[in-house]
Amino acid sequence: MDYKEKYKKIVNSLLKKSFPELKMEKIKIIEYPNWLIFWANGFVYKLPFSWGIFISKTERQLNRKALIGLLAHELCHVEQDKKIIKNFLFGFFQSLFVDLSWAFDTKTSRIVERKTDLLAIKKGYGRELLELVLFQGKKSSKRKSAKTHSRGYLSPQQIKSYMKKLK
Ligand SMILES: [Zn+2]
Repeated sequence: MDYKEKYKKIVNSLLKKSFPELKMEKIKIIEYPNWLIFWANGFVYKLPFSWGIFISKTERQLNRKALIGLLAHELCHVEQDKKIIKNFLFGFFQSLFVDLSWAFDTKTSRIVERKTDLLAIKKGYGRELLELVLFQGKKSSKRKSAKTHSRGYLSPQQIKSYMKKLK
């Protein structure tokens, strides 16, 4: 199956439905082998004339609902980054800073990830995000899930309670 094509279709429909601010942006999907950047399932990077959503090949096993959750989360990154990144060079260093802060698990990255999850729920993708988190929880050990959660990502309980609050 052509996964890039499958992701692109989901991204296009998400853009149409929930990301009017990104209407004029060019967004590329790039898959990478999971050994390359083994600590992240996906991330966003500013490219010269577009945005790159990088997705690890391990994510091919996600079901459609969880995949929508992941791509909505990544598009929320783009939407937030777009507000601060005005050109490629600035974007390059800004993205580098954010990614390094993620790799070293800093407070900045935890705040960013939390904000991004909350925005995805606000846009109506709480159920999909929940599916993603539950799927990833099933796959990994308790210790690894706790570590993921400590990086700022919402837990299933937090997603549910935030969804209730928004109703
Ligand atoms: Zn993220």
